[in-house]
Parts: sequence; C-alpha cells; structure tokens
Amino acid sequence: MILDLKGIYKEYQQGKMNVPVLKDVNFSMEEGEYVAIMGPSGSGKTTLMNIIGCLDQATKGTFILDGQDISSCSENEMSDLRLNKIGFVFQSFHLLPRQTALANVEMPLNYAKVPKKERKIRALKALERVGLSERVNFRPNQLSGGQMQRVAIARAIVNNPKLLLADEPTGALDSKSGAQVMDLFQRLNDEGVSVLMITHDPDIAAHAKRVVMIRDGELKEKR
Ligand code: ADP
Ligand code: MG
Repeated sequence: MILDLKGIYKEYQQGKMNVPVLKDVNFSMEEGEYVAIMGPSGSGKTTLMNIIGCLDQATKGTFILDGQDISSCSENEMSDLRLNKIGFVFQSFHLLPRQTALANVEMPLNYAKVPKKERKIRALKALERVGLSERVNFRPNQLSGGQMQRVAIARAIVNNPKLLLADEPTGALDSKSGAQVMDLFQRLNDEGVSVLMITHDPDIAAHAKRVVMIRDGELKEKR
C-alpha cells in the first residue's frame, strides 16, 4: 500500500473558533493505482492533498505513506519524504518565472544535493519524457500553458517519485493541452507511478481507474 489514512481529521483555527475541514477521512491506495478525488469547491480537497503530500499534518488520525507512519515525523523528515517519494503538480504550475525550463526541473535535485553534472543529465531526460527537448532553455513566459504544465510534470518526476500528486492539473489549460497532460499521467502510471489527482471535471476524472468523492470534508467511494 502506498497510502493509508485512517480517521483523519483536520481543523483550522479561526480566531477562537475551530473550523472542522476534514471529518473522519478513511482512504487508502495500492501501489500503482490511479485515483481521482472529486468534490465541490471548499470541500477539503486541497487540505487533504496537503496532508497526503506531507506539506501539512492532520489534527487527528493516522497516515501511513509507503509503510512509514507520518504522524510522528519531524519537519525535516517530512521534507525528505517530499523530496524522495512524492512529485507535485499544481493548477498554476508554480514554476520559477526567471529560470529556464531546465533550471526549473533541476531544482528538486539541488535540494537532494545531486552533483551538478548529473542534475543536468537527469533534468534533460525528464524534459525529453514530457516532449520538451526543444524548449529546455525557454523561460515560463516563452512557453504556452500546456508547455509550462509539462515542465512542471518533468520537475515532479525528476526524482523518480513513487507517488504523483496533482491538484487540478488541467484547471488552467485548454482541452488539447489537458489531454496531453492526461496522456503523460497515463504513461507514468503505466510505468508504475501511483497517481492521485484532484479535479472537478468529470471528463478528467474518467482517466483515473477509481474515483472518490469528497463533500463537506467527508470522503466516499463513488460506486
Ligand atoms: P477545496 O480545495 O476543496 O476547494 P480547501 O481544502 O482549500 O477546499 O478548503 C476547505 C475548507 O477549509 C474551506 O472552507 C476553506 O475556507 C478552509 N481552509 C482552507 N485552508 C484554511 C486555512 N489555512 N485556515 C482556515 N481555513 C482554511
Ligand atoms: Mg483546492
């Protein structure tokens, strides 16, 4: 199992009030699965994704990632897990605007202290995998939205993560670029990467092999 969440609650503090956002979420994913989470705006999708991505911790509950109990992890251990096991793709790409595609893709390897020469080799290979070998020296403002998202996907996979997390990855794209992103996700999944994506587009969710719904912080399998 790549993910196992049991009895996950998340509350945010707002002034003196505790706002419950996730309520007893139980969710697991086998290695190599491809799952979509759907739900209306404000239902807790990003909050859940941030917990699964080790960017935030639950208020209550247990979360096992690839056999490791995250509940007791320190900040440093969480950032190591992010670096080594997880790739992230966001709706708005989150690329460094002044850096080339190549430098953007190399970035996680800097954190992982990979030697310079190897960084470049691996980043070029990741860009080749997403079909952007001709654009390695372009900066984000010289790329289309679809190309920017493919740079972001190259950055997400440059560390060979076991788990790819995507929060509305096609939300800012036209349908043709969205379809290219879906093709890439399928290919990565075929290669064994577990994929978890958030979307509110049923046509995008249909690419996953399993769809779960979240509503008001409660998660239910769609059957
Ligand atoms: P979704 O991604 O499904 O649109 P979110 O997970 O972003 O939903 O948000 C779920 C709920 O949690 C919303 O009501 C939002 O206002 C609240 N929320 C999210 N982040 C915070 C925060 N940092 N502090 C307080 N409330 C938050
Ligand atoms: Mg969201």
